[in-house]
Amino acid sequence: MNRREFLSLCTAIGAAVALAGCGHPPEPYFVSQAQAPEFYLPGIAQYYATTCGECAAACGLAVRVIGARPKKVEGNERHPVSHGAHCLRAEVALQVLYHPQRLPHPMQRQGGRLVALSSWDAAIAALARSFDRGRGLWITGPLGGTAGTLLVEAARRTGSKIWVLDLAPSVAWRMTSVVLGGAPRLPYLDLASVDYVLDFGSDFLAASALDNVRHGFEYAKFRRGSERSRRGVMVSFAPRMTMTAASADIWVPIRPGSEGFLALALLGLLDGTAPASLGTVPPGQAAAETGLAETVIHRLAARLRRANRATALAGYDASAWSNGFWTLAAIGALDRTLRGSSRADWDPDTLLPLPGQPMLAPSDVRIDTRGAVEALAAGHFSSVWVNGVNPTWLLPPKTGVAAAIGRVETFALTPFLDETAALAAWVLPTSSMFERWEDASVDAPTPVYGLRQPLASPVADARGPADILLDAFASSRRLRGLLRDVGVAVRRAPSHRGGADTSGDAGDGDDSPPTVKDLLRSRFHNGSEWARALERGGLFADAAPGGSRYAEEATLPPPLLPAGSNPLPAGKSFWEGLSASPPTPATAQFVGTGDFRLLPYPSPIWNDGSRSNCPWIPETPDPMARAVWTTWAEINATVCKKLGIERLDLVKLTSPAGSIVLPVLPVPTVHEDVVAIPIGLGHTTGGPDVEGVGSNPSVLVEPVYQEGTGELAWGATRVSVEKTGKKGWVTTFDQRVYGKRAMFAD
Ligand code: SF4
Repeated sequence: MNRREFLSLCTAIGAAVALAGCGHPPEPYFVSQAQAPEFYLPGIAQYYATTCGECAAACGLAVRVIGARPKKVEGNERHPVSHGAHCLRAEVALQVLYHPQRLPHPMQRQGGRLVALSSWDAAIAALARSFDRGRGLWITGPLGGTAGTLLVEAARRTGSKIWVLDLAPSVAWRMTSVVLGGAPRLPYLDLASVDYVLDFGSDFLAASALDNVRHGFEYAKFRRGSERSRRGVMVSFAPRMTMTAASADIWVPIRPGSEGFLALALLGLLDGTAPASLGTVPPGQAAAETGLAETVIHRLAARLRRANRATALAGYDASAWSNGFWTLAAIGALDRTLRGSSRADWDPDTLLPLPGQPMLAPSDVRIDTRGAVEALAAGHFSSVWVNGVNPTWLLPPKTGVAAAIGRVETFALTPFLDETAALAAWVLPTSSMFERWEDASVDAPTPVYGLRQPLASPVADARGPADILLDAFASSRRLRGLLRDVGVAVRRAPSHRGGADTSGDAGDGDDSPPTVKDLLRSRFHNGSEWARALERGGLFADAAPGGSRYAEEATLPPPLLPAGSNPLPAGKSFWEGLSASPPTPATAQFVGTGDFRLLPYPSPIWNDGSRSNCPWIPETPDPMARAVWTTWAEINATVCKKLGIERLDLVKLTSPAGSIVLPVLPVPTVHEDVVAIPIGLGHTTGGPDVEGVGSNPSVLVEPVYQEGTGELAWGATRVSVEKTGKKGWVTTFDQRVYGKRAMFAD
């Protein structure tokens, strides 16, 4: 080797070493500047208006995005539903987006286990084949907007059924409205106009099914009394002190299942009217059923007479019993007597017509919980499609739903591998609400058409439910024609054919099947209107004049609509045509011989447990117990003293359905007959953050169905309590953050 060769070799080796040292593992989320997403400005924060999709309330959000990555969720102050506020679940949507356990690809069960697929083709083809077979069952959460319409059309044209699985008593609320002479809609809590509230376990401040964000504003107005001369007063009758009951002036622990007796006794004392079938209840009988003194009932009636305007609200804790429908109807009748014709209602499940398609009533595709469970057990369905809910985990094992799902070809549309997806034949990963096009239509005193738009570069190979449906329609023999007709109508829509489109994406002008974005855009008269709706997050009249929280960096254009006008394309409620017979008086029935009545309740934080795998949820302290990452049993402190049960004693709870062991919190905030357990934890699948954390009280629940609605009566089971002689633990927020000892009132 000569000197020149030696120096060349040294240079080559040095360069190789340097390059190796500079090497990085591949960066999976690197964004090429050449392929930057639309409107991407490096390092500059941008705010996008969008609509929350974590529950049916459709609050308005303003999301701070840097580098095509959403960083922070804020409220849109101009939004008439949420007035600039939002709840924990909207924040947690960020964790859903970036969650390390998000499913990156579709999966198929092969040889008894789920295997990742490199493309969507096989999964979409299988979904299309299942549509063509027909006779399937969609299990889904609340549904509305364009995605809901696609789902209803798929069900109708394939002879399938839709089962809306909801912990909230949505069906009982809607049926109550029907039997009292209204449309099948949800109660709208216009608290600002009342000065006296009778709360029967409605928990409107925490239960998202009742739009808790908006009701926070209503409650503030009620307490301020700004529209009346005096501050409003609230009295709560519930077997458990909910967050709303904790905010009341007086909480009265009422015997579980007796709420309807109190409501009808008050109705009689106020000379109110109710359907005759509900019956009449003398104050003496109500006193015997509820455990209240008769004089208290008379005093309450006198107080209601003095109120300028009062209202009676009912929720999960009043309807969890076998007589829940009658109870809600009795409370609804009392409310109508108190409020007269001023009562309003609302409906977040409004379906919007597909372009060029007539809007048909969807009543023929609905099935209730009892009907679905029995049909599943009888092997009636050839396919099951599960969209955004987790029935295998949520429902009591004794319903047999998990076993039935394992027997038929099941498609799970979910962002995470949960207990239902783990049993499915196909797992179709769904995108985050920040990654997809979608809309939501809420028909309320202030109607809202909310738009959801992609704010992030996709993090996973996932698709929105509506995208998945459209893709499957294109391959389905039975649904291809529908897609073709819709495509023709979309291409004829003014906003697609041209006009002043300032959105940066003019119409395609080809014959390709329409996308979800095409469907949404075709509702607008021109491109400018579409662009303006995107800037505002939808069509709605402003909540109040003035700038928004993010107005310093971004300016919302003025509304397209004058205040009070209805912006919605003529849609139909999914529940239109819901029929109901007025319920008859009934005493709550409980299965089992235990001394206590079990009340599994939706945690105000964990809700239905669908986001418990996102650490911000279990990390947030329960507002009453202050506990995190734990499940506990609440038993009345006086009863505990009698039984010799101390704080954090482990007890075995046994019902005819099963048993679990939980630590006890002796509290003064539950009725003496009740064992209350929050629903939300106790997952066996879902990743290391949630597996094995807490317990699921549904294992104790007997499948008893409410008379009249066919929905599950969550609180119709008796449990016995047996000391194990061992101590357990409940982690509190103080322990987690400050290392302090647990602080519970005994
Ligand atoms: S109430 Fe529902 S829609 Fe509103 S911010 Fe919370 S999860 Fe989102």
